[in-house]
Amino acid sequence: MSSPILFSDLQLIDPIQRAVSDKGYTEPSPIQARCIPTLLEGRDLIGCAQTGTGKTAAFALPILQHLAADQRPRTPKSPRALILTPTRELAAQIGDNFATYGKHLKLRHLVIFGGVGQNPQVTALRQGVDILVATPGRLLDLKQQGAVRFDQVQIFVLDEADRMLDMGFVHDVKKVLAVLPPKRQSLLFSATMPPAIAQLAQSFLNNPAKVEVTPAATTAERISQELYYVRKDDKRELLVDRLKAHPKGLVLVFVRMKHGANRIVEFLDKQGIRAAAIHGNKSQTARERALEGFRNGTTRVLVATDIAARGIDVKGVSLVINYEIPNEAESYVHRIGRTARAGADGVAISFCDSGEMGYIKTIEKLTRSTLPVIADHPLVQTDMQPTAPEKPGGGGRRFGGGGGGQNRRSGGRPQGKSASGGRSGNQRSFKTQRGPRQGRSSHR
Ligand code: AMP
Repeated sequence: MSSPILFSDLQLIDPIQRAVSDKGYTEPSPIQARCIPTLLEGRDLIGCAQTGTGKTAAFALPILQHLAADQRPRTPKSPRALILTPTRELAAQIGDNFATYGKHLKLRHLVIFGGVGQNPQVTALRQGVDILVATPGRLLDLKQQGAVRFDQVQIFVLDEADRMLDMGFVHDVKKVLAVLPPKRQSLLFSATMPPAIAQLAQSFLNNPAKVEVTPAATTAERISQELYYVRKDDKRELLVDRLKAHPKGLVLVFVRMKHGANRIVEFLDKQGIRAAAIHGNKSQTARERALEGFRNGTTRVLVATDIAARGIDVKGVSLVINYEIPNEAESYVHRIGRTARAGADGVAISFCDSGEMGYIKTIEKLTRSTLPVIADHPLVQTDMQPTAPEKPGGGGRRFGGGGGGQNRRSGGRPQGKSASGGRSGNQRSFKTQRGPRQGRSSHR
């Protein structure tokens, strides 16, 4: 098919292009490629996308571009763009995105959420901000106190709408909507589209463009998934075994850590299997070289970390191996979505050791499915008991560890969980999540 779209194809102004390339991104993610042109046209949009798809930049870049094109003096307390998001972590992360992509622009953003003192937020609002990222409760508090006004809002984003509803913010959202100026561009993002969200969307979006990317359920349909409960020490052997069992096509092997990627490549080399690693420690050129070798088939196996794999869209990946289970469930969906591209079928195999069993539960909850378990393989452990996960990578646990895999002999029997409220906590796919921040503003 056609060659990949580049950021430089997207009609973004130079300061934004530069910020994107400073970040090392050349190719927009699918949601970015589809949202950015539409949003630059000024259309309303409804985006069905999870965190981890790059959706933040998908709305942040056009917002920055709109506001930069109309550099008027800031009106105190009156942001021109308002982003409503359910949690402080998301708010902080969205703020980080505006800081990153707006670094060459003279726009000011502010992040506000509850649980911290409001005075710095009130002061920053009084000084004037272009972009306000907020959680609903604190926003309404400040509105009631007259610390913020919505009369200048030109662009409104409702982020993670389904979670917003799950968390009981529907009335707050409606209150905000009721006082926004009628002439504005509005966006709604949601990982799922139950009727309540569709209704809400209809209530405030005007002839929206619809953009949907890799919803978990449909991704899984074309991908045959297999879960192996295996001892950590047996994973290498199982890897070679599975590579031999799938002799055709390109293979992406996912690991959590950079050094793990290197070790697997060395090991595969010794086994006579051509492999390369791609991870954040490699220079851009080394990554491109590895990717090129993979694209043209000289390297059959690419071992990648989640961050490095972002933006990789290689045709012909017939097998994805989760050598390590991602500790963030959305990464699983992303990883396996690297196969079965363009209508082809793909296989996704996951190696789960005792310390990773809790992650499976969370993945199953997110994908609203049960991973089919392979029981008849000599390396498979049929009575594995969950143990504590290996170092949770500094960011604290977000998963209900332990207890997973109780049905591993059943070949994928549903676990009797209701599918309701399927998404779990604050999952991130590509970045270590940072702790909540105080309301901040960037003054540039
Ligand atoms: P989000 O879904 O907005 O939370 O983004 C998920 C992660 O993907 C973030 O860490 C972004 O920095 C990263 N990201 C966003 N866009 C791109 C891109 N085009 N290429 C590579 N990484 C990206």
